[in-house]
Amino acid sequence: VGDDDAAYLISLIRTIPDFPKKGILFRDFIPAMSDPRGLAIILDAMKRTLPVKPEDFDLVAGLEARGFLIGPQLATDLGKGFLPMRKAGKLPEPTYSQEYALEYGNARIEIEQGSLRPGQRVLIVDDLIATGGSAQAAARLVEQAGGQVAGFSFVMELNGLDGRKALGAYPVTCLMNMP
Ligand code: AMP
Repeated sequence: VGDDDAAYLISLIRTIPDFPKKGILFRDFIPAMSDPRGLAIILDAMKRTLPVKPEDFDLVAGLEARGFLIGPQLATDLGKGFLPMRKAGKLPEPTYSQEYALEYGNARIEIEQGSLRPGQRVLIVDDLIATGGSAQAAARLVEQAGGQVAGFSFVMELNGLDGRKALGAYPVTCLMNMP
């Protein structure tokens, strides 16, 4: 990303203190999504900074809900399928399911059995990595289904939370580091 585009994108991220809970500095990328230039910068930059080559993965998986805002477009542009990873209780059984601790609470994510074929390689996307707990659960979900994690792609990374460390050796890229 050029300096102009990077500054422009950062200027569109809204920061909300104490949302959704006291002590959380919420980074909102919706104003960047709803801006035509902001949206184009995000998608172009994600395509140009993929953690692995497009030929090295088969599917893009997005975490509910903000991973759904970028994942399908990225998948379409790259000629891949899209796999939604949903919050518990939304998908018809049988599902694979993984529980994890979030920066604010506990959660469980699921995929439908059969939506991911054994051996398929998956790029996991989300808006933001904080502790890495949800991304780690997403990786376990892929592996539970017999798939392989190709890597992770995030729009934002929160500094100081060691989210990347939680993802071990998997290749990871993020567009913006947020203090
Ligand atoms: P974590 O599992 O701790 O890496 O948290 C990442 C997930 O929680 C992502 O799906 C984010 O959308 C959401 N999230 C966590 N912390 C924040 C934050 N400070 N601002 C915006 N979203 C957040």
